[in-house]
Amino acid sequence: MTKVLRLDLSGTPTAWLSAEAAALAYTRNMVKWELGNTQHILRGGVNQAGKRSYLCLRPVIATTGLIFPPGKAENFNNRMLFKRDNFRCMYCGEKGDVRALTRDHIIPSSRGGKDIWENVVAACKRCNHYKANRTPEEANMSLLAIPFRPNVFEAMYLAQHTILADQMEYLEKRFSGKRIWQAA
Ligand SMILES: [Zn+2]
Repeated sequence: MTKVLRLDLSGTPTAWLSAEAAALAYTRNMVKWELGNTQHILRGGVNQAGKRSYLCLRPVIATTGLIFPPGKAENFNNRMLFKRDNFRCMYCGEKGDVRALTRDHIIPSSRGGKDIWENVVAACKRCNHYKANRTPEEANMSLLAIPFRPNVFEAMYLAQHTILADQMEYLEKRFSGKRIWQAA
């Protein structure tokens, strides 16, 4: 099954839960509201009356409590970064998969450039190698798009590979609109 999108009671996404973790939230009565038409039935054990217990999981749930640390836009891996940049080198525009792309620090790390969303872009190996320890200005290279920090809804989208339509609908409405991944 795909993951369940967990929100806090204000509707801010905090985590992608496994079916088991979501089931735990249901059995602890922590789920206060839920969204989505698709559902996933989890079958439990058989009770003394011979009836099988089951749980119906919705794709989006809002829960009380902090069973998991809140989601953060600060933490990201290369896959999230490349997805933000539409799996394109932000210098030459070439498309590539996770193996073909690299994380380029616009201001190089060796010169104090931070490892933050605003200072990193997807770059093909060739461009990254050519740019080396220089800023884009010094290397006479220009960026195809301004790298941006995703909001928490976008970060959740970037973090998850398989997203159900119900989940996408919830997240997409709250995107900032600064989407590089829809660029031509
Ligand atoms: Zn390139």
